[in-house]
Amino acid sequence: MAPSPVVLGIDIGGTTTSFAIVERDGKCLVQEVHPTRAEEPASRLVSRISERFREVFPPFSETYALTGVGIGAPNANYYTGIVEHPPNLNWGPSVNLAGLFRDAFALPVAVTNDANAAAIGEMEFGAARGMRHFIVITLGTGVGSGIVVNGEILYGADGFAGEIGHTVVDPQGRRCACGKRGCLEAYASAAGLCRTVMTLLADQMDDSELRRFSIRDLTARDVFEAASRGDEIARDAFRETGRILGMKLADAVAFTSPEAIFLFGGLAAAGELLFEPTRRSLEAHLLNIYRGKVRLLASGLRDGNAAVLGAAALIWRELETGASHHDSELSFIP
Ligand SMILES: [Zn+2]
Repeated sequence: MAPSPVVLGIDIGGTTTSFAIVERDGKCLVQEVHPTRAEEPASRLVSRISERFREVFPPFSETYALTGVGIGAPNANYYTGIVEHPPNLNWGPSVNLAGLFRDAFALPVAVTNDANAAAIGEMEFGAARGMRHFIVITLGTGVGSGIVVNGEILYGADGFAGEIGHTVVDPQGRRCACGKRGCLEAYASAAGLCRTVMTLLADQMDDSELRRFSIRDLTARDVFEAASRGDEIARDAFRETGRILGMKLADAVAFTSPEAIFLFGGLAAAGELLFEPTRRSLEAHLLNIYRGKVRLLASGLRDGNAAVLGAAALIWRELETGASHHDSELSFIP
């Protein structure tokens, strides 16, 4: 019997890198998490992953054949396979990540950024199955977005479309990690939520269990736990985060008129604490023709493996449409 095809899905983050050997229906044969070692060059990470793959795959090699590699990484460009200025990784200004993986595996390779990978995962294996127009917002260390129009990820002219996290809430507002001022990410990320807590603590006299934290050691989880216990400052911080997020999501709706917006990642785990004010603000800021039509939903994928499944879904789609050859000559130049 001919071996069944499987792909390797890889999610590269600043701290950890996950990979999974994934069947077409999203079932994982193997899934592992390893330290990224952000201080090492990208080539070291690629060789560690390929060595580890060669250790774990032999028991499956009679039944399965690896056919491609899909990768989600910060600031990865789908068109070129290049990662530019990745935040939290000491890889320099530019690394040909697709080329490194092609050299290591001699198979078709596709890369995209982590938010796009999450959106593709949602479309193939999650709650967006059957939807042709939707947006996935990843709320974690940063704020990412993957925009799907007509069943396809929107990449734009240069491959970097969909940075809703760096659209501006307030031009005189908070400094963002990108260097600009007042980006959505400075408010709706995990760190943004904590900054909002600090502002509220300064503005209000109410008692709060969060008063014992400094900005250095406060985490989004602390805020969530305090809010769950009824702490009003913590609850206000979620309301304010939802208000700002909903306002910017209403802008996004005006561009692509999605059926649904999915919230995904660490902050989305706060559930209705965040969803309720976001939904309210979204509706309030929508143009009347969109009102009551856009659903705000939680991801249908488990947080632990969504990005890996998305990376796997990316290469599955490429293999099926024969589209995995974007600039492959370019990527092969050593
Ligand atoms: Zn920014």
